[in-house]
Amino acid sequence: MLKVVVVVGIPGVGKSTVLSIASRKLAERGYTVRVVNFGDYMLEHLKRAGVVETRDQIRALSLSAQLEAQRAAARSIRAELESASGDRVVGIVDTHAVVRTSLGYWPGLPSAVLEELRPNAIAVLEAEPDEIVSRQSRDSSRYRADVSPREVVDEMLQLSRYYAIASSVVSGAALRFIRNREGLAERAAEELVEVVERI
Ligand code: ATP
Ligand code: AMP
Ligand code: MG
Repeated sequence: MLKVVVVVGIPGVGKSTVLSIASRKLAERGYTVRVVNFGDYMLEHLKRAGVVETRDQIRALSLSAQLEAQRAAARSIRAELESASGDRVVGIVDTHAVVRTSLGYWPGLPSAVLEELRPNAIAVLEAEPDEIVSRQSRDSSRYRADVSPREVVDEMLQLSRYYAIASSVVSGAALRFIRNREGLAERAAEELVEVVERI
């Protein structure tokens, strides 16, 4: 049986960090684990089209370009998850409930995406706004000037919950809020493992 968990949270909250730990923990428990980053799939699609070079340029593209890449990513991800063989397979999708585009806020998990991914659960990773601002500023590998002012972080934390609730209703997936406390990514990963075990 394939279990699918979608993990969302605002930029810099620690999704990719927590998922690399959770992946190891799930493998130790005998799961075949596929962690896929939705942005990687969009980036691959858009790089091939020659319209971006880095992942942080994606949200500045026209909405129609992002929409096309979003659909393509969702299809490829489901195919990738289904290609894994074994009787205890878990697919974890690292993504966003809401994206701050140059036009305005936009859903990361609209019904077309949810129909492809068919998640059993959606986990919203959260942290204190000040912790997120400081994580974003410490992470020099990313461009986050458009999402790091404190008032934007506050707004996105709220919106991320609301958009995730809407996606839970549309897909029938369970919803869980997980705190990624400073220095305690391991604990957040354990909570995520528990979510997988209870599906
Ligand atoms: P994006 O959506 O932009 O990809 P993300 O949610 O994947 O962001 P990460 O890249 O995992 O975020 O983490 C952002 C930064 O915060 C990294 O430098 C990471 O090391 C740090 N970080 C993550 N979790 C914690 C934690 N619990 N305590 C302290 N630092 C953390
Ligand atoms: P990330 O590395 O998670 O920040 O992803 C890189 C970029 O991919 C994000 O900044 C968004 O522009 C885009 N992205 C990721 N997931 C989604 C999604 N579900 N829908 C639309 N865009 C997304
Ligand atoms: Mg990430």
